[in-house]
Amino acid sequence: MDCLLPGAPGPNAQPTMLGVMGGGQLARMFVHAAQAMGYATAVLDPDATSPAGRVSHLHVKTAYDDAQGLAHLARHCAAVTTEFENVPAPSLAWLAGQRPVAPGAAAVAICQQRAAEKAHFTRCGVPCAPYAVIETQDDLRAADAALFPAILKTAQLGYDGKGQLAVATLNALAPAWQQLGQVSCVLEKRLALRQEISVIVARAGSGDWVHLPVQQNLHRDGILAVTQVPAPDIEPVLAARAVEMAGRVAASMDYVGVLCVEFFVLQDGTLVANEMAPRPHNSGHYSIDACDVSQFELQLRCMAALPLPAPRQHSAAVMLNLLGDLWFEPGRESPSTPPWQRVLQLPGTHLHLYGKAEARRGRKMGHLTVTAADAQGAREVALEAAMRLGLPAF
Ligand code: ADP
Ligand code: MG
Repeated sequence: MDCLLPGAPGPNAQPTMLGVMGGGQLARMFVHAAQAMGYATAVLDPDATSPAGRVSHLHVKTAYDDAQGLAHLARHCAAVTTEFENVPAPSLAWLAGQRPVAPGAAAVAICQQRAAEKAHFTRCGVPCAPYAVIETQDDLRAADAALFPAILKTAQLGYDGKGQLAVATLNALAPAWQQLGQVSCVLEKRLALRQEISVIVARAGSGDWVHLPVQQNLHRDGILAVTQVPAPDIEPVLAARAVEMAGRVAASMDYVGVLCVEFFVLQDGTLVANEMAPRPHNSGHYSIDACDVSQFELQLRCMAALPLPAPRQHSAAVMLNLLGDLWFEPGRESPSTPPWQRVLQLPGTHLHLYGKAEARRGRKMGHLTVTAADAQGAREVALEAAMRLGLPAF
């Protein structure tokens, strides 16, 4: 595919328009990166107040499988990407018949189904947690006792720990499956985790790929809370192994675009793939402020077939996720603005707010990246920022 350059200036010139399926914060940050390079952008999202729709040149407000909406997007855009894995695969496949689409529908289809995802990890020799697919009453009865204590996860549409239940014993499995609506699930052994890490790779159509440094992630209640880069507790050999595995996972799907692979590090240092996302990832947001190319610019470069030099991290970084809870002081019903001034007094703080219409508990409203010359410095400032925001230490 030829490079899709932004377009020549001139009184009647139209900048090249790039499209994204989905209008949440990931699409918004993609739009920012694309516009900074001179592209115009289009977002398809049914929500009139979507964070990316609000900052894009064109906002197609239809369902993700609406034929007219898709045709509208294809007509205006030179290429299309996605910000979430739950875009209907047939929609991406249809778009791919009109325009370059990265990542492709087949790869997205793997990433949107946990069982398919685990089968893919296994196919490329990347270990994942022991699991069983639960789709029928017979599957319940056949579940291996060695999987317990376990976590039952819906195979599709889960995120931020939603659609997951802890299942202590075989007896508790049937009621848990009932509670999840008896949809297709995976039953996964609960592992003792030493750390959680993630790797973001960007892969071009030529097969060349680059990666961001390994991120160390802390989750609270199933939601990402803190990302530290460089990863404070990960030995270089382990990091290198994770990068190699993520590259292998991408290559074996013929992947084009940005892919994030989440890994568990077990007590004995074993690496186990958890899940993957066919898009930029919350754990890569630090790259906007701490790397010479962000994960969103990488997404842009992949879809527009631009060159893909290796990213370099120029500052140590700690990212704190800012959930809607921050807007609700204890004992108060109505939302109030968090103390940004006190946070922004601290050196190296970069506040990103996603422009969401309403703050709700557990909703991702923004993130704060702290950059510093070294990891120790970033951590100290991030701990102070967390304290000023009333967030727990890490
Ligand atoms: P989501 O799609 O909601 O991110 P994940 O499968 O990544 O779902 O699970 C969210 C978090 O729950 C993980 O980051 C991890 O902290 C914890 N978790 C998930 N699966 C396991 C497991 N098998 N063993 C231990 N902890 C797990
Ligand atoms: Mg996850």
